Amino acid sequence: MAAYRGRFAPSPTGPLHFGSLVAALGSWLDARYHQGTWLVRIEDIDPPRERAGAADAQLRTLAALGLHADEPVLRQSTRGAAYEVALNALRASEQVFACRCSRSDLAPNSGLHLACVTRPSGTQAALRFRPLASVVSFADRLHGKQTQAVPDTIGDVVLRRADGLHAYQLAVVVDDAAQGITDVVRGADLLASTTPQIALQQALHLPTPRYLHLPVVLDNQGRKLSKSLTACPIDDQQPLTALRAAWRFLFPDVSTPVGNTPTEWLRQAVDAYCPGALDRRNRPVSS
Ligand code: GLU
Repeated sequence: MAAYRGRFAPSPTGPLHFGSLVAALGSWLDARYHQGTWLVRIEDIDPPRERAGAADAQLRTLAALGLHADEPVLRQSTRGAAYEVALNALRASEQVFACRCSRSDLAPNSGLHLACVTRPSGTQAALRFRPLASVVSFADRLHGKQTQAVPDTIGDVVLRRADGLHAYQLAVVVDDAAQGITDVVRGADLLASTTPQIALQQALHLPTPRYLHLPVVLDNQGRKLSKSLTACPIDDQQPLTALRAAWRFLFPDVSTPVGNTPTEWLRQAVDAYCPGALDRRNRPVSS
C-alpha cells in the first residue's frame, strides 16, 4: 500500500476560523498517527470570493499552531494548465459538454442540472461533467458506506464556470492525484461532493484516495460556521486554547491532551489520537 499522504486544503476566503482548524488538526493528526506526510494546499481558484492576504494569514496561523506542512505549499492559482489537460482528456472521452443554462434557468429544479433547458439564457458556456459511471459507492472511514446515483442526485457538475474559472470539483481531483494524496480528511460538508469526485477520478483514470469526513462546526442557527457572521478567527497568540477546543470538538469523550507549547501539546495529541473515537455529529461548539 502507498505511504500515507494527507492534506489540508483551505480556500483563502478569510482568516482561519474554528471550523477550518478542526479540519486542519484532524487531517494533521491522522497523517502523523499513520506516520505519513501532511501537505497544505491553498485552493485559490475563485478570486471573486477571496480576500487579499487571507492565504498568508491562514499559513501564519497554522505555523503559530505548530501545524507545519512537510512539503512546499501548492497554490491552485498556478495549476490552470493541469486543469485544462484534464478537461481535454474528458472531452476526448465525451464526458464533458458546454452548457449555457443560467442559475435562474435551473431554479425550478433547485439548481440541479439533469439536462439543458430548451432555451438557455446564459451568454457564455460553462463546461459540465456527465460521467459514464452511474452509481458510485465508497466507504467513508467514519460514516461507513455511501452510495449515490451520479449524476441523477448530484446533477451534471460544473468543471469550468461560464466566467472561465476552473471549478473546485475539477481542481480538487486533479491536485489530489498530482500530489499523490492517499487519504482525504476534511469536513462532512463535502461528503456529498465525494461521489462526483470519485466519478471524475474514474473518468480521468486516477486513483481514489480513502476518505474520512470530520464533523462540521455549526453556528447556533445550524449553518456551517464559515458561512456565518460568527466565524471568529483563531487568535495566533492563544494557540493552545484553539488546539484544545478543536480536540474537544473532535473527541468530546477523550480527555484533552496537555502540553505547555503547541509542539509539546501536538506530540501528546498524536499519542492520544484514535480515529475510532471521533465524534460524528455536526454541531455547534457548545454542545
Ligand atoms: N477548499 C475546501 C474548503 O475550504 C476544502 C476542499 C477539500 O478539502 O476537498 O472548504
